Amino acid sequence: MAWYPRATKMELQPESDAQPAIKPTQFIVHSIIAPWTAKRVYEYWRDSTNLESHFGIGYEAGDVGQFIGTETRADANAGANRRSDGTGAVSAETASNLQGSDPWTDAQVEELIRLGVWLHQKHGIPLRICRTHSDPGFGYHSMFSQWSTSGTACPGAARIKQFKTVVFPGIVARATGKTEEPDQPTAPAAVTPTPKETDVPDLITEVVAGGPDLKAGEWKLLQMAKDTALAQGPCRYTFAAYVVVTGKPGTRVTGRFHDLPLATGKPSLDLRQDAGVIGADGTLNCLFTRPGELVKDEQLKLEVLVDADAKVTHRLIRGLRWTI
Ligand SMILES: [Zn+2]
Repeated sequence: MAWYPRATKMELQPESDAQPAIKPTQFIVHSIIAPWTAKRVYEYWRDSTNLESHFGIGYEAGDVGQFIGTETRADANAGANRRSDGTGAVSAETASNLQGSDPWTDAQVEELIRLGVWLHQKHGIPLRICRTHSDPGFGYHSMFSQWSTSGTACPGAARIKQFKTVVFPGIVARATGKTEEPDQPTAPAAVTPTPKETDVPDLITEVVAGGPDLKAGEWKLLQMAKDTALAQGPCRYTFAAYVVVTGKPGTRVTGRFHDLPLATGKPSLDLRQDAGVIGADGTLNCLFTRPGELVKDEQLKLEVLVDADAKVTHRLIRGLRWTI
């Protein structure tokens, strides 16, 4: 069980000892819809409900509490708390106004960035926005329906925009050494006005070396990172997938995207995109593109087909994803 050195430890019992272990692969941020200190969040979990988050972040600089070790399940994110493979999400509740409509203060943004960097360093949570409900990375509560029991707007439109434009890019910049921690604690409660729209897209970039063998005449789903889903709805997206295929010169390579509703497991297949034939050097650089829309609990996948045995040697995905 791991405790964040910057947080004040306020251990919740019996949950901390009784709940099962997780391997933390995601960080999910919340608003608690109350202007509480970290200590008041702890008291609420202790006295009023059997739910809880791992962390509570108040409005003031440095007001961070940790209630459960990050390798123990906490119950703030429904299906993401602990999955059957033992992975789960680390959760942080943040103080907000009673409507859940105010943006994070500069002090809260700074604490979220520091905590995100620590989770990346401590647990290897990858520096990307979760592409699906089970994809390792960073996210906010309302991003996927699997993360709540009956839907939620949490952490609110202003904070979702901050997550995409300030908090997550801040975590990446800090973790990769492009910015430094401020020497002085940040000034409290300097509120930056934030527009209401949440139409800032997530930028998705995945580079994966190597790839599967392709058998003549068999469609093969291309795995990107953890699984074969490129995105999960509800969202709009535009994707470009670059795939290097090596094999016998003259081998034709075809690709197609499909939408997979998780409920039925029956994909709707897109028209085939012909990528051409492998050249005299034994290599073909394929480009497959698709703009589209996914409804709730629907995933986008890409598969390729060859007419003689061949091999994928490199995959690169670039895309934009708008939550709707
Ligand atoms: Zn929430």
